[in-house]
Amino acid sequence: MTTSDTLLVFDEAVTRAGVEGWIQHLESAGAPIEMYRLGGTHVLPVSDVDLIHTAGPELPAPTHRVLRNTEVFLGRKELRPRGTAVSFGPTTIGDGSVTVIAGPCAVESPQQTLATAAAVAEHGAVGLRGGVFKPRTSPHSFQGLQWDGLELLAEARERTGLPVVTEVVDPEHVKRLAAVVDGLQIGARNMQNFALLTAAGQSGLPVVLKRGFGCTVEETVAAAEYLLLEGNDQVVLCERGIRTFEPSARFTLDLTAVALWKQRTHLPVIVDPSHSGGRPELVEPLSLAAIAVGADALLIDVHIQPEQALCDGAQAIRPQQFADLMGRLAPMAAALGRHMSGAR
Ligand code: PEP
Ligand code: MN
Repeated sequence: MTTSDTLLVFDEAVTRAGVEGWIQHLESAGAPIEMYRLGGTHVLPVSDVDLIHTAGPELPAPTHRVLRNTEVFLGRKELRPRGTAVSFGPTTIGDGSVTVIAGPCAVESPQQTLATAAAVAEHGAVGLRGGVFKPRTSPHSFQGLQWDGLELLAEARERTGLPVVTEVVDPEHVKRLAAVVDGLQIGARNMQNFALLTAAGQSGLPVVLKRGFGCTVEETVAAAEYLLLEGNDQVVLCERGIRTFEPSARFTLDLTAVALWKQRTHLPVIVDPSHSGGRPELVEPLSLAAIAVGADALLIDVHIQPEQALCDGAQAIRPQQFADLMGRLAPMAAALGRHMSGAR
């Protein structure tokens, strides 16, 4: 396949028989056939444009023709111009509302997890985050409660009704986690762990794909392609800060990436102001900016006692600060003609 192939895109309105007709036409001309799917949309790369012109009138016109100048295409906006809505339990990410997912960086104890979950639910979060397997820079740091933590997350969901998302660090863990949680997170350090991406894609669960802090905007889209290729279109791109020369914050939040992903891909975008700023006082300004630039959702670290946290306490906000933040987000959403997800 050359990189100048044309992609014929057939949206849901085109019947399977119509797409089969195209496949037969290409096959009869001896062209190699590869067919890709994004939900009900079919994508057929055609390397010889003459074959498009010789197609019979009975064949349905493609909804869109894209000149493929990249090997990455399933995430491209042209395939689904109205965007992808991701179903995270009862919560939808990417329907135009502002979705807030919050919770502890790590599940540490029953009290910490259940109290934090109750607090974020009370103040309007529509999803709960919490790591049970933590990919830590040092092997001496707290590695998470692992499988014991998973039960706590399930209990927190039971009590609050919030869907839960947790990080997966090992392809072997995917099935067992997926049996319990509503969404999987691929961490920044694993964005290009391709075996993990494939396994997470196969789970069929929504996946929050965090941008590697040394990876580009397009490399992130390429990583998402691994998930999409497994027939899983429930992918949320996450900007969580990149490493730059600037030491004043833990990472530098790249809001340009948010705007570019919204323009170039059909996937919803979530911003993590906690891991990027690394400081509680940066969470609110970065959150407001993220929504202003077009992010669909926010992923926020909240802890009942940040000074006691076993992981990333330096960036967690307290429940009251979270409540204040939600109060500031609502008018920002309204000013943009949007509403807070879950708000009555
Ligand atoms: C996290 O969200 O807990 C986390 C580890 O984030 P990141 O992968 O972005 O560092
Ligand atoms: Mn963390």
